[in-house]
This record gives sequence, C-alpha cells and structure tokens, in this order.
Amino acid sequence: MSALAEALVDLDAVASNVRAITSVTGTSLMAVVKADGFGHGAVRVARAALRAGATWLGVTSVTEALALRDAGVTAPTMSWLHGPNDDFGILIKSGVDIGVSTTTHLHAVADAVHLLGVPAMVQLKADTGLSRNGAAGDDWPELVAWARKYEREGGIRVRGVWSHLVDADLPGAPELSRQVATFEEALRIARSAGLDPDLVHLANSAAALSAPRTRFDLCRIGIALYGVDPFGATGPGEFGLHAAMTLRTNVINVKRVPAGTGVSYGPEHVTGAPTTLALLPLGYADGLPRAAGGRAEVWLGGRRCPIVGRIAMDQCVVDVGDLPVAIGDPVVVFGPAEGDQSPPTVVEWARWAGTNPHEILTGIGARVARDHLHGRARTS
Ligand SMILES: *Cc1c(COP(=O)(O)O)cnc(C)c1O
Repeated sequence: MSALAEALVDLDAVASNVRAITSVTGTSLMAVVKADGFGHGAVRVARAALRAGATWLGVTSVTEALALRDAGVTAPTMSWLHGPNDDFGILIKSGVDIGVSTTTHLHAVADAVHLLGVPAMVQLKADTGLSRNGAAGDDWPELVAWARKYEREGGIRVRGVWSHLVDADLPGAPELSRQVATFEEALRIARSAGLDPDLVHLANSAAALSAPRTRFDLCRIGIALYGVDPFGATGPGEFGLHAAMTLRTNVINVKRVPAGTGVSYGPEHVTGAPTTLALLPLGYADGLPRAAGGRAEVWLGGRRCPIVGRIAMDQCVVDVGDLPVAIGDPVVVFGPAEGDQSPPTVVEWARWAGTNPHEILTGIGARVARDHLHGRARTS
C-alpha cells in the first residue's frame, strides 16, 4: 500500500443493498452515484448496482454523466443539476436524460436538439417544498406547456416527472403528506396538458424504505445503496443494509508519555495519566471532520480507542492506554462490524461531527486510495 490510508469498497455489499431495497420497494431502482458514488467510485458502484438489478443511474452534472459514458456504462442515466449554458448537446448525444426545472433550461435543451437534429429525453422536476430546483406555482404549468409544445414538434420527449422530498427520514411527518399531495397535483397538471410520462418518481432512500405512497415507478437510492441506514441505525438496521466502505490506515508512530503531556495543537488535550499515544496519518484533509475531535474513536488493538487532541490536516493522535500497540498496526476508522471487530460506523462519525453520513462519505479526501473488493474487507 503506497497511500497512507485506504477506503475499501465492498461491491458485494452494494449489490446486496440493491436487492434488499428492491425487495422492500417492489419498484425500479435508480442508483444515485453522484459525487463519485458518495465517494465510493461512481463507475464501480454503478456496475455493481446494475448487475444486482438497478435499472437507472442518477448523477448531478454533465461531467458526472460523461464519466459514466466514457467508462462504457450505457445504462439509462439521468443528470439533474445544470447551468443554462451547459452542453446539453453532449448529454443528448450520450443518451442521458436531462432533468429540467425551468423554461430557461428547457429552451436551451430545445436549442441543442435543433442544432443536433437528435431528440432529447427530459424529465421535468416539480418543486414540492424544498424550494431548490424544480418548478413551483405558476411556473409548473408554464414549464409543462412548453414541454408539451416541444414534444408535439418532435424534438423532446418528456419521459419523466419527478420531485425530491424535504424530510424523508421522518415518515410520519405531515410535511410528507403535503408534499405527496403537491406532487400528485403537479402530475395531474402534466397529464391534463397532454404529457404521458413513463417514469414518475419522488422517493429517496428514506422515503423508499418507509413511505410506500412515495414509491411510484422508481426510487432514487443514494445513502442506502452504500449501506447506511437512513433512519440512523448504527448497524444493518431493520432493512439489513451492509456498509460498503471501510476506511483503514496503519499506525505510523507510537510513544509512551507521562501524565500531563499536551497532545496535538492547542493543546486542548493533556494526558491525565501515563499512556501510549498512536499517530495516524489521517486528518481533516482526508475527511476526518475537525468537529469530531474530542468525541471520535477508531478501532485499534482489538478495541475502540479515542482520538485525543485536535484533528489536524494530515494526522491525528489516538490514546491507546496500556495496549501494546506498535508502528504498522492496522486501524479501522469506520466500517462494518465483522466477527469480534466492531469499529465505529459512518453513522457514529456523523453524530460526532454533528453532520449526516452523506457528508462523511463524500468528504473522504483524494489522498485516500480507493480499493474495490468483492466481500468484506480484511482489515488486519
Ligand atoms: C442525492 C439525491 C438522492 C439520494 O438521496 P438519499 O437520501 O441519499 O437516498 C435522490 N434524489 C435526488 C434528487 C438527490 O439529489
């Protein structure tokens, strides 16, 4: 291993998560592989998910969509976050569905169609409460009317109508019912204007697993694909999801210190007793959030040991007490439990840092090598 740390990605876990999720939803599954597959490697995850039965891939941008196509991934793909001057022509030529939220974007897609002489597949997004992308209020009927006009002219086919939820991890929330109703109204408006979308979709992971009325034709699955329970379970949870990523490294220095020794910058931490400190070559530039300092733990020497002192850009220090730890010993920062090994999970890291698991996974830095495996990572 030449990198100082590795993110081992178990593609069998991704496949098993696809099967677990579709057995609950009974719908088609879009594997959301934006942000390099939540840091797991978009192309490898996409292939594993497709083999396990996913039928769609979801990405945010032209760049991400083309990365899949350049790698030879030809499965149905939708991209949904675009500037008005994006190269829609290349998406059209690559057979990528374009998520469209405004008439500005729709006209730009129509222009690209005109130039190319090749029709575009678009999926219209309604805003049902997030107030981000999507068309709301009077903008929706206008978007729909323009789309229908272009469809009649033959340049554009509206394959899908979709939206995104606000509080999908709170299945009982009144907000969810309100959003589903808003979405159904948007759908009614689209159909009565003459659109006939084959794909209606609303649910992300949390909604797909917990709120049947959000499932429609397709569920867009991100976090659950990577084996993180969207409801905060630290293990497989009630849906039997398997964490795909193990973040591991090795101890690069060990020192025995007396009580009263300051550790790392500050120092905010001073040892209370004689102890052994182990240095890890991972810091916030590698995705260990600085905000998790003082709470975070890692798996080292057969148990969980606390990170002490500030997490620095490139390194952090673990207090291993009297454990006989040596330079080179393996460390699991997070990963699935395995046998008698129970390292922290991504969900725990998210709690320690006051954020969500998505941010932990997508924050793993470029210095961390990605290694793809079939089956559980051997971490020791
Ligand atoms: C990221 C994203 C998803 C995936 O959400 P999860 O909660 O991770 O399943 C689904 N839909 C859209 C529009 C997204 O941006």
